[in-house]
Amino acid sequence: MDSKESFEVKAYQTSGSENCQKVVAKEEDKREDTIKKLTKLYKEILQTIGEDPERQGLMKTPMRAAKALYYFSHGYGVKLPDLLNGAIFNEDHDEMVIVKDIEMFSLCEHHLVPIYGHVSIGYLPNKQVLGLSKLARVVEMYSRRLQVQERMTKQIAEAITLAINPTGVGVVIEATHMCMSMRGVQKINSKTITSCMIGVFRDDPKTREEFLSLIQHNRSKL
Ligand SMILES: [Zn+2]
Repeated sequence: MDSKESFEVKAYQTSGSENCQKVVAKEEDKREDTIKKLTKLYKEILQTIGEDPERQGLMKTPMRAAKALYYFSHGYGVKLPDLLNGAIFNEDHDEMVIVKDIEMFSLCEHHLVPIYGHVSIGYLPNKQVLGLSKLARVVEMYSRRLQVQERMTKQIAEAITLAINPTGVGVVIEATHMCMSMRGVQKINSKTITSCMIGVFRDDPKTREEFLSLIQHNRSKL
C-alpha cells in the first residue's frame, strides 16, 4: 500500500530515533487498516437496518463511526509500563492520596452502548507515589475498552498496586449504564456503584471509612 511505503520511507530518512519512528509508522499503519475494515462493516450495518449508506447525510457516517469506535477502544493498545514511564517518584509521604471524580466513558461489553460516570481513587503510599495525572491515565487505559464495571474497578486498583506497591488502594466507580436507560428496564436515573479495596483499605475499617467519607463529601457538593 502507498501509505505504508511512505511511512517506511519517512522512518528510514530520519537518523537518531529511527526505531521509534518505525514503531510509530507501524502503529499508524495498523490504525488505518483497522479504520478501513470498520468503515466497511459499518456500511453493512447501515444497510442491514434498512438505511441507504449512499444518501447524503450518511455518506461519511461509516468512516466517522469507525474512527469513533477506534477511539473508544484505544485502551487495548496501551501498556501499563509505557503509560507510567517516568511518573513514579520516591517519596516519604505516607498520608492518603485521593483523586476523586475522574470522568470516565466506556462501552458495555454486552450491548456496546456507553457506560459513563466517575472514578475515585485513593491510596496509601509505601515510599513511592504516582504522578497525579497518571491516575486519570490508568482510568483511561481501562475504560477505553469493552467493559463491565466490576472488572474495570478491579483492574484500576490492581494496576496501581502493581505500579507502586502501596500499603493500600481503594477505587470507587459510580456510573450510568445506557443499556439500562435506553433499552431493557429503562431505568433512567439508576446508578451502579462498585468498589475495590486492597491492603489496608480492605483490612482496616478506619482507613476505608476515611477514604469513603472524603470522596462522599466531595460528591455531595456537586
Ligand atoms: Zn449492557
